[in-house]
Amino acid sequence: MRFSSVIMPKETKKFQKKKEDFVCERCGVENFGNGYTNHCKECLWSKHVDINPGDRLSECGGMMSVIEIQTKGDTYILTHRCQKCGFTRRNYFGENDNFDALIKFSQKSVQE
Ligand SMILES: [Zn+2]
Ligand SMILES: [Zn+2]
Repeated sequence: MRFSSVIMPKETKKFQKKKEDFVCERCGVENFGNGYTNHCKECLWSKHVDINPGDRLSECGGMMSVIEIQTKGDTYILTHRCQKCGFTRRNYFGENDNFDALIKFSQKSVQE
């Protein structure tokens, strides 16, 4: 029996799914990657490591804070901004992420 291989177009696929664990440089919590993890589940900070999501091609490495939270139905969308270079990116708030931290960020942005 032979399996024919499916050829995936490489250039059009910008999102690369990678499972990787990382320790948050902000709060020290260990995060277990599920392939979509790009921010800390506890403090919600991210790190500027991607040019396109998942590619890990950025050499910046700056810490990315949540600057905006938007809701879309039941989904929360976080906007992260790099403190080093100002790069911004939107990310989905994950179901295992810390909701208290989300609330804190939303209160902070009201005060500022
Ligand atoms: Zn953290
Ligand atoms: Zn940056």
